Amino acid sequence: TTFLALETSCDETAAAVFTDDLTVLSSVVASQTDLHARFGGVVPEIASRAHLRNLLPVVDEALGRANVPLRDIGCVAVHNTPGLVGALLVGVSAAKALALGLGVPLVAVNHVASHIFACRLAAGRDIFPCVGLVVSGGHTALFRCDTALSLELLGGTRDDAAGEAFDKVAAILGLGFPGGPAVEREAAGGNPKAHAFPRTFIDDGRLEFSFSGLKTAVLYACHGQDVKRATPPPPGPRRADLAASFQAAVVDVLTMKCKQALRKTGLTRLAVGGGVSANKPLRAALQAMCVKEGAELLIPPLALCTDNAAMAALAVEKWKRSEFAPPDLDAEPN
Ligand code: ATP
Ligand code: MG
Ligand code: FE
Repeated sequence: TTFLALETSCDETAAAVFTDDLTVLSSVVASQTDLHARFGGVVPEIASRAHLRNLLPVVDEALGRANVPLRDIGCVAVHNTPGLVGALLVGVSAAKALALGLGVPLVAVNHVASHIFACRLAAGRDIFPCVGLVVSGGHTALFRCDTALSLELLGGTRDDAAGEAFDKVAAILGLGFPGGPAVEREAAGGNPKAHAFPRTFIDDGRLEFSFSGLKTAVLYACHGQDVKRATPPPPGPRRADLAASFQAAVVDVLTMKCKQALRKTGLTRLAVGGGVSANKPLRAALQAMCVKEGAELLIPPLALCTDNAAMAALAVEKWKRSEFAPPDLDAEPN
């Protein structure tokens, strides 16, 4: 059976075609970054409208690249949760219409679970059970993953997500949107030890995260207490040091919490997904930690880390169990 999957949860419009043996025939992502950049963040209403414009061309492109005609699609999959409600609605409505029109089953999958499933897809073999870390714009959470579909939350963030912290620190430093890649580039020329930024909960047994204190520490280090009149720092070593020291704090915390989760669960595999897992210093630190712990690290290639529809191949697992979505499937923001 050949699947068509749609992803519209945030600001990427994506479609993918794959088969029930998890072969990805095509994966197309239309990013809206340029539309949102001038506002310094994703504007929900603009995202929804762009999804409406882009979705059918993206679907056509995915079918064309896979060389699969629409009539050969045997199942439609969609991420219906979590995300921006208006953005999700576009994908959900299109998926329902396509499934109904084709007379094929509809499968709804969770976007966060799909971020972990991206590791399974990239590995090309079973990776469960494992510890799963999702680090994205909206989520920072550790899971015990007994199967692709049974995720038990070990702990999440109390405030900002790691990706959100990258985006906010990029704004503080005047590095633009999206922030993650910009901070990573800036940090490459800086000293990660220049500022001793807080590593919240690092020695704490709880598998929880908090990044808002770190973000505020960067703000004060940048401007002092007089943040109202602050303008971003000019390019130079000071700005690079702030970026590098911030990034080092995030990497230290994420790496330590993964180590604690591996020890606590006794599992020996770590699967990491979400946009922040594209960060090279994070990938290197996780790799070094896993080698020391005797664990196996699974991180997908960059294109599967950020939002895409191929990772919705998680739908194959539900399809095998005949867990189909009802025709009145709804978008669930949380
Ligand atoms: P969610 O999956 O929680 O709904 P999302 O879909 O917006 O959120 P992703 O597309 O998975 O998230 O990831 C986007 C986030 O990843 C952004 O916050 C971005 O700054 C961050 N990011 C992307 N590349 C990097 C990088 N190289 N280093 C650090 N962060 C990065
Ligand atoms: Mg995005
Ligand atoms: Fe995502």
